[in-house]
Amino acid sequence: MKNLIVAKFGGTSVANFEAMSRCADIVLADSNIRVVCVSAQSGVTNRLVSLTRAEITLAERETTLTEIREIEYAIVEALGKPEWVCLALDNLLNELKTVANSENLVNSMQLKDQIQSYGEQMSSLLFAEVMRQRGAHAVNFDIRQVLKTDNNYGKAEPNVEQTRLQAEKLIAPELEKTVFITQGFIGSDDEGHTTTLGRGGSDYSAALIAEALDAETLQIWTDVTGIYTTDPRLTQAARPIPEISFDEAAEMATFGAKILHPATLIPAIRRGVGVFVGSSREPKAGGTWILNQVENKPPYRAIALRKDQVLVTLKSPSMLLASGFLAKVFTILAEHKISVDLVTTSEISVSLTIDNPTNSTSKGLNPLVLEKLAEFCDVKVEDNLSLVAVIGNHLQANSGVGGKLLSALENFNLRMICQGASAHNFCFLTKTEDAGKVVEHLHAQLFDAI
Ligand code: ASP
Ligand code: MG
Repeated sequence: MKNLIVAKFGGTSVANFEAMSRCADIVLADSNIRVVCVSAQSGVTNRLVSLTRAEITLAERETTLTEIREIEYAIVEALGKPEWVCLALDNLLNELKTVANSENLVNSMQLKDQIQSYGEQMSSLLFAEVMRQRGAHAVNFDIRQVLKTDNNYGKAEPNVEQTRLQAEKLIAPELEKTVFITQGFIGSDDEGHTTTLGRGGSDYSAALIAEALDAETLQIWTDVTGIYTTDPRLTQAARPIPEISFDEAAEMATFGAKILHPATLIPAIRRGVGVFVGSSREPKAGGTWILNQVENKPPYRAIALRKDQVLVTLKSPSMLLASGFLAKVFTILAEHKISVDLVTTSEISVSLTIDNPTNSTSKGLNPLVLEKLAEFCDVKVEDNLSLVAVIGNHLQANSGVGGKLLSALENFNLRMICQGASAHNFCFLTKTEDAGKVVEHLHAQLFDAI
């Protein structure tokens, strides 16, 4: 379909009946929106995840299942309790209960994904009914028939080819007359088992569907009016960005701006699908367009902040004039699936940052890795650090840009600076306790004068 729009509504956008009705207004106002991808009602996925914990008690399980049921039933009540919707919802809730009580759950990644999928399944069921009651020809479509993935449960990788084939077969022919209401976050593997794309994955799902259908636009409706120059909680001076390039937005997503799931832009970039981010509460307030080509390419576009960074410094006098040291280090990290964000090197040392996974001990690095590294170099691990990334254009080539940034930061202690690998970012580490102040100050220096 020409001018096809795929719209995704996040958990707060579909949190309850009123919120869902605002989403329905948005869909009904634009006849090009033919595919709608919904998240679970806000708070539901967290509850589903808690059902998969080994230490959950029977009583806690009962309470959690009741809370989920209440969130869903409040919406069904507002819909006037249509009999068949109640039946379909009860079916899902009963299935959920069965899986939640299954003894195999704690050890089965597959069942954990199955459990997490019910939030989105219930959400699309109810949103399709909201749409139908508003007169739309809407179907609740099971995206697991289309979004095919590998079986890496918990963080499955999509199979783009198969997804396209299935979308062409099952969705494309009906688009002219039907609005497809479907689930974000979930898919299925070759054996038909339910998979999930990882927390926050609905954005990514919607992008994959947009790609598979050659949509013109992907709309991500959330609870903020687009992407801001920095997190508005850090400084009141933050302001919305009307337009940003794919490259800049990808850097922002990677460097901590929590607006989009970091993988969302990959399919959009592959097919040149324009992405719009806006608030379903205030659809008229505008938002941010993320496009392949943008008119305005300012040197400074935004500042992103990512907390909980671990800095690992490896020092080896034998590295002097030796080859293979870095390869050795990175092989060990790769073997343990540790992804490195920033790297700086000197003749005999290398510093790298990694994300500190929440709740991890040993400052984010597994002791085995530390041991292996310590076999051939001195290892120093520091935490309580935050990564600040200035995103913009030509940051490596513009004369004076680095100098301006450094002089804006002269009163702060910077732990590591990375510039030059990308034209779109300038990153540094600072103590987490200073990070908020650093961002506020830098924002004032770089943006307030403009
Ligand atoms: N419901 C899932 C989550 O909370 C996916 C999403 O909302 O994007 O992680
Ligand atoms: Mg989200």
